[in-house]
Amino acid sequence: MKFKRLKLSGFKSFVEPTELRIERGLTGVVGPNGCGKSNLLEAIRWVMGEGSPKSLRGGGMEDVIFAGTQARPPRDFAEVSLLVDRDAQEAGEDQAGEMEVTRRIERGAGSAYRMNGRDVRAKDVSLLFADAATGAHSPALVSQGKIGAVIAAKPQQRRQLLEEAAGISGLHARRKDAEQK
Ligand code: ATP
Ligand code: MG
Repeated sequence: MKFKRLKLSGFKSFVEPTELRIERGLTGVVGPNGCGKSNLLEAIRWVMGEGSPKSLRGGGMEDVIFAGTQARPPRDFAEVSLLVDRDAQEAGEDQAGEMEVTRRIERGAGSAYRMNGRDVRAKDVSLLFADAATGAHSPALVSQGKIGAVIAAKPQQRRQLLEEAAGISGLHARRKDAEQK
């Protein structure tokens, strides 16, 4: 799975509609402190289904909505769209190609998801990314402070992290399931 484009509107500091193309190869985001670099990574985690406001540095999920500044009023919704591309090998012939995943939150109304414009469940979105061995909790996404947390982790936690990175934690879960049957 390849990420091709990220669109944000009303998400954290990205109050105006913003579109970023994600080209092949390595992408770097540079800028002064507080300009929104971490917010971009959080937008990617959020659209992939992140359910914990704390891991998005907020107290409640609505904290991702632009809260307003002295010069601008707050927004009443936030929306993030991620365009991904899948080849036939990972998605099958009929599902291969581009797919746009959108998550929108409105004040007092919670989150809703769409895939290529169609309403879907949160579960459909998490399955899409789980199949591609990525997702909101993928060890491929390393947030600020995470490196320190790995160094300070107990051996058991560190092992868990390595197993997730190696893509074998799903196998453990399935074995446990099979043993109980
Ligand atoms: P650093 O280099 O220090 O890591 P950064 O580029 O990663 O900085 P972010 O942490 O992404 O910066 O952005 C922080 C900015 O986003 C702050 O100015 C904060 O006020 C703003 N921000 C976060 N949430 C909201 C919100 N809901 N509404 C408005 N602004 C927000
Ligand atoms: Mg940052």
